[in-house]
Amino acid sequence: MMLKMTNSTKPKLGPISIGSPNPGNCYFTLPPSLRWLDSDHFDEGAERVRAMPVKTRFSRWFPFAFLHAGLFAVFFVGWSPIAVATAIALYWLRMFAVTAFLHRYFAHRTFKTSRTAQFIFALMACSAVQRGPLWWAAHHRAHHKLSDKDGDLHSPSVSGFIWSHIGWITADRNMPTDYEKIPDLARYPELVLLNRFDWFVPVLLGFSLLFFGHCLQLFYPQLGTNPLQMLVWGFFVSTVLLFHGTASINSLTHMFGSQRYETGDQSRNNFFLALITMGEGWHNNHHYFPGAARQGFYWWEVDFSFYLLKLLAALGIIWQLRPVPAEAYSYSPGKKATT
Ligand SMILES: [Zn+2]
Ligand SMILES: [Zn+2]
Repeated sequence: MMLKMTNSTKPKLGPISIGSPNPGNCYFTLPPSLRWLDSDHFDEGAERVRAMPVKTRFSRWFPFAFLHAGLFAVFFVGWSPIAVATAIALYWLRMFAVTAFLHRYFAHRTFKTSRTAQFIFALMACSAVQRGPLWWAAHHRAHHKLSDKDGDLHSPSVSGFIWSHIGWITADRNMPTDYEKIPDLARYPELVLLNRFDWFVPVLLGFSLLFFGHCLQLFYPQLGTNPLQMLVWGFFVSTVLLFHGTASINSLTHMFGSQRYETGDQSRNNFFLALITMGEGWHNNHHYFPGAARQGFYWWEVDFSFYLLKLLAALGIIWQLRPVPAEAYSYSPGKKATT
């Protein structure tokens, strides 16, 4: 006998309902004793958490305090050129994963790539300890909708510098991922999985650095490093700088710099912040044309993420980079963007 599938029996792809199984996304629920491992699990339900008042939770400052406390360990483990070089390399590599992929790809879809590449870069971005890729993209889309207006999650003009820089990530209500804002990304079970267990990647990075340091100490003792030194520089120093670099786009680029375009918000272009964030400092450009893969619109507006994206495009890893619209160059105040 043939079974006929009706619309109501077909597994559906699309937004998942947190806390309930969804065959389209291979959603599974952990046993109650292990649910704390799942970043998408909330005992009260995600909807209720999202409806909570905008309020910091003291315990959510601990992870940040722990990361920053790790900086003081440099006084105990010392330094070596290889440890510092590892910290610098991991800063730029992860900054690229965050700016080019979490921001320009996952949040704004400014180019196309393969399912494999999107997963690899999402994995790299997870090592930045900025929560999962879907959480990141959903919150960033919300920021563009209400930029510097009531309801903006991290606006310095609405909620002050500290809140826009770090405080907003300590509020319970900002912890759940709003899957309805990212149906295009929630279709991929591997991304949902990564989003749920985002903490696993930084832990893996930490252990990898310990192992790397151990191997260097064993086989290249002349480099003068050891496992703990590699962990402190490669993870703690690099991650803290990376966090403040990325967070400065939420806070400082809405405070300091110039405004080329009337965007109706406080977004600014800032050369220094563009340098340390691989091009994200051209934030006023970006708020005017969030759909463009390039954020520095002129040759002097350095945008290292874009240069690397061009390289990835030349290698065939990504394609269809959305250009800066011609009207960006013939702009006169008072005009509204059409893209
Ligand atoms: Zn912004
Ligand atoms: Zn954006």
